[in-house]
Amino acid sequence: MLAACLLAAHAGAWAAAPGAVAGGAADDAPAAEAADAAPFRVHLLGTGSPLPETRRFGPSVLVEAGGQKFLFDAGRGPMQRLHTLGIPFAAVDKLFITHLHSDHTIGIPDLYLTGWLRGRKTPLHVWGPAGTRGMMEHMAKAFDYDIKIRLEQNPGSQVDAADIGAGVAYEKEGVRITAFEVDHGPVHPAFGYRIDYKGRSVVLSGDTRYSPALVRQARGADLLVHEVAAGSEELMRSSPVVRNVIGIHTGPEDAGKVFAQAVPRLAVYSHIVLFGVTEPELERRTRTTYAGPLTIGEDLMTFDIGPRIKVTRTMAKE
Ligand SMILES: [Zn+2]
Ligand SMILES: [Zn+2]
Repeated sequence: MLAACLLAAHAGAWAAAPGAVAGGAADDAPAAEAADAAPFRVHLLGTGSPLPETRRFGPSVLVEAGGQKFLFDAGRGPMQRLHTLGIPFAAVDKLFITHLHSDHTIGIPDLYLTGWLRGRKTPLHVWGPAGTRGMMEHMAKAFDYDIKIRLEQNPGSQVDAADIGAGVAYEKEGVRITAFEVDHGPVHPAFGYRIDYKGRSVVLSGDTRYSPALVRQARGADLLVHEVAAGSEELMRSSPVVRNVIGIHTGPEDAGKVFAQAVPRLAVYSHIVLFGVTEPELERRTRTTYAGPLTIGEDLMTFDIGPRIKVTRTMAKE
């Protein structure tokens, strides 16, 4: 049994505590909203940094729209998180990659091979920036021995990967997924994604510095899932490594600016990279430029997007 708890479904309210949650603009949703047959739902599978932490796994977000499921990035650990959520591996055969930094791709072999081994009968479909297709071809070669000796050969052992440009990458059964370029310094191209379904929208920033293109795409979105990186004053002074990392990401003050300009119903931090900065400080620094609804995302946090945005947490346990 999954231990899930409803956190909040309040209209337009937000709390100041770190990890606070907030609901959307309308509060007249029927009680049966949770049983919606065509859900538009976002699961944060991993909200962490490249470090192998246990509380926050590597960046990965699962979006459910109607009967379809889409994984965005596969940092370290998405299979464990899908397992905890009780989402069948067979149902996850579509992966969109924001960019090819390894902290966003290191979970792909697990998704590809364990997903096939434990249920997927369809190829793993992968979309991403230039280099994605080559990476997936090499990955299939790297695991060639294991793939060939398994008795259960089926299309699940195959990869169908495409390099894409900015624009509509996917459109089927009412779901439209649009890739747009963001500014991740030397990592070019790097994408954010916008997912539209039944008049509602979710925008994922990918890895980016402050980017006007992201603001345009996220304007009025229901949910904006945004990366953030912050360093303490001392580390920013003393560590060139920290300065370099922070230089290609978005600081909390700039993220707040993005939120204030885009005005999503709910802004959520995920892929949280902190150097000597606590989560309360992260929130405080964001509040210097933004006063609206904000959640500091956690692994296994789920957002149901309807007339209200309902937030639930699932406890990580075996
Ligand atoms: Zn990156
Ligand atoms: Zn990253």
